[in-house]
Amino acid sequence: MRIRYLPETLINQIAAGEVIERPAAAIKELVENALDAGASEISITVRGGGKSLIVIEDNGSGMSQEELAAAIDRHATSKLPGDDLLDIKHLGFRGEALASIAAVAKLSISTSQDGQEGWQIRVEGGRKAPITPAAQTKGTRIEVRDLFYATPARLKFMKSERAEFIAIKEIIQRIAMAYPRVRFTLTHDEKTALLLPAEQDPKARLAKIMGTEFFDNAMEIASEREGIALSGFAGLPTLHRKTAQHQYLYVNGRPVRDKLLQGCVRAAYMDVLARDRHPLLALFLQLPSEQVDMNVHPAKTEVRFQDPGLVRGLIISALKHALHENGQSASSSVSNATLGSFQPANHPAPSLPLHRGSHAAVPKYYAQHQGMQDSYAQSFEAYQPSARTETMPEAAEEQSLESHPLGAARAQIHENYIITQTEEGMVIVDQHAAHERLVYEKFKAQIASTGIERQGLLAPDIVTLEASDAQHVLAHAEELAKLGLELEPFGVDAVAVQAVPALLSGRVDTRTLVQDIADELAENGQSDSMEERINHVLSTMACHGSVRSGRRMNAQEMNALLRQMEDTPYSAQCNHGRPTYVNLQLSDIERLFGRS
Ligand code: ADP
Ligand code: MG
Repeated sequence: MRIRYLPETLINQIAAGEVIERPAAAIKELVENALDAGASEISITVRGGGKSLIVIEDNGSGMSQEELAAAIDRHATSKLPGDDLLDIKHLGFRGEALASIAAVAKLSISTSQDGQEGWQIRVEGGRKAPITPAAQTKGTRIEVRDLFYATPARLKFMKSERAEFIAIKEIIQRIAMAYPRVRFTLTHDEKTALLLPAEQDPKARLAKIMGTEFFDNAMEIASEREGIALSGFAGLPTLHRKTAQHQYLYVNGRPVRDKLLQGCVRAAYMDVLARDRHPLLALFLQLPSEQVDMNVHPAKTEVRFQDPGLVRGLIISALKHALHENGQSASSSVSNATLGSFQPANHPAPSLPLHRGSHAAVPKYYAQHQGMQDSYAQSFEAYQPSARTETMPEAAEEQSLESHPLGAARAQIHENYIITQTEEGMVIVDQHAAHERLVYEKFKAQIASTGIERQGLLAPDIVTLEASDAQHVLAHAEELAKLGLELEPFGVDAVAVQAVPALLSGRVDTRTLVQDIADELAENGQSDSMEERINHVLSTMACHGSVRSGRRMNAQEMNALLRQMEDTPYSAQCNHGRPTYVNLQLSDIERLFGRS
């Protein structure tokens, strides 16, 4: 076996494998270059999911003839003025993207520095053709044909054109969110897929990408600590998704998928959302460039913070604060969904266009259902006024109750839903979910005031770990003890668990618990495992200790529950992120009956 030095083209292809993983990755690099060049308009044209053609045009600074020649060489960049990898003011800094693309595709660049003559260069499979004059008068146009033709192995692993295109659109949206003043257009196979005009107000760009539903149900976040600023929008916990795909996180204008940041989001919503559900949010973290290392991941999507604890503290407390402030509001999407479900659930969809205008005076909804009269009459018979008056309080008292946010209890149906009247409409409360939240918050308040009770173990549990893990865990022994977990050193690679929180005793495997804590400490310098588990147990206990659906309540009891909800943090949702109540405005109800 002989060691040999690899030829330049092969070196570039190997590097390209890391940086340019798929068409979307190439586009990300090229769009970042356009932004770094100060472009205010960027147009992206792709064909065949980006595999056959990518064209990126920008109106940025352009390049001189010499710069153009250097641009496609590996490790040639205009963006690192000194030798400090922490002094990064641009999206690019490695000088790798163009070289990588040139190594695996047919690349052609035309560029011009405002008003000066234009130049063009072509590179195929790493071989440069001489620079020639070009008709370009402003900015840069980059054309990438037959991506990965030089690396058939990679080509084979491309997904369908559609899947590649979805990834392209996603990455452009992610970048565009952070650059509202730049106009972006994306065309795929001759069809316009994205048109994002330049916006003065960053919120307008966010709304275009995340949708108005998000905006109607988002809390504004603005917080600062020791020169680190966090801004953006976070969704109410009742608006959630199965994946974290709708979480847009940025560090200094750069979209990232960072574990630490994702962990912060999870920790902040831990109390108000089931573990497998994810909130929607767009958060922008801004901090001095020397406090963050961007050079961690080939696609620059992960970062390392100089002071991770500070960043974590800032994000978690900003989110928790907002959640607390908005703890009483369930998302409007909940009531919209409710309203939406009224109609299709029981009746065939009305054929509106046929009837539009011809029944102007008659509520159109009734006019189209022959069977309506019957069921309408039937429901009147089933209605028993006497059952209602019995439990209802005096009129004057009633009035004052209605002024409370959750209103005055009017009825309980199916032994679980409380119907209340508010000044502006009505509320339906899920009494079990509501009670679950009340019990849970009570448990937490108790723990906060009296501390967590410990349960000593008769014989200590010896947990063997890697030596470094054991040290990590022991370094945090004091904090852990506050949460009820008592640890002592045991040799170099083990800890002796002396006591566990009484709440968890018999419910968790100490080994897994300690290992999880060690893993989290190694990764983030901080661990939520204990708190998460304790909260999980509390929430299970709350669930079992709550009024099960099926219990009848009288008006007094119902009103007492409503008042308690109004006084309890996070009471708009149960511990699993399900809403505890739905608010229907009178105007919504009128709309249902075609009255408005
Ligand atoms: P990096 O962005 O890390 O510097 P690239 O390989 O992406 O590395 O680009 C190399 C250089 O080419 C950049 O530093 C920049 O000077 C120049 N360049 C690339 N794209 C453009 C563009 N669209 N407009 C102006 N200059 C560009
Ligand atoms: Mg670049």
